[in-house]
Amino acid sequence: MARYAMTVDQRLCVTCNACVIACKNENAVPEGAVRCWTAQVEQGQYPNLSIETRSERCNHCENAPCVSACPTRASHVEPGGFVEVSPEKCVGCKACILACPYEARYLHPSGYVDKCSFCIHRVREGKDPACVSVCPTRALAFGDLDDPHGTVHRQLQTRRFKVLREDEDTRPKVFFLT
Ligand code: SF4
Ligand code: SF4
Repeated sequence: MARYAMTVDQRLCVTCNACVIACKNENAVPEGAVRCWTAQVEQGQYPNLSIETRSERCNHCENAPCVSACPTRASHVEPGGFVEVSPEKCVGCKACILACPYEARYLHPSGYVDKCSFCIHRVREGKDPACVSVCPTRALAFGDLDDPHGTVHRQLQTRRFKVLREDEDTRPKVFFLT
């Protein structure tokens, strides 16, 4: 079984927000909410400052606190490691929103919690997630972490990378190439 993951090349991301807009269109994300977003983060200390630019979303954590916090099992893991929400099982209690250290979830106006799905519907049709397919600088890559011939696997063998909030022990599957 595949273990799907994403890489975000911080050297290539120009925070143009094409990924954010493509995601909103693909997933009919309501006004005022996002499933993915961009960040510009200052690193280092004066005078050695640098800016990290990146696109962020749910990390589809292997040790996902949102899944263990969910009382109805609406938040669950699909084969391939996609962390998903079943809207019909969600009661909107927001336990998962509180449990997620990445602020990746929001309450949909229809009363259920929503977030990045890694575009599971597209991936099952053999396509990349919408954000990956539109990125003009090819800063995003998606694929099976364990496929030795896949881009994600190769990048993680050859590039330096980090995950966000490693201290939380969530084992994220979005990797930031530095
Ligand atoms: Fe960065 Fe690509 Fe998203 Fe633009 S589309 S913000 S370059 S990841
Ligand atoms: Fe859950 Fe947040 Fe991890 Fe996504 S990033 S799997 S919402 S804990």
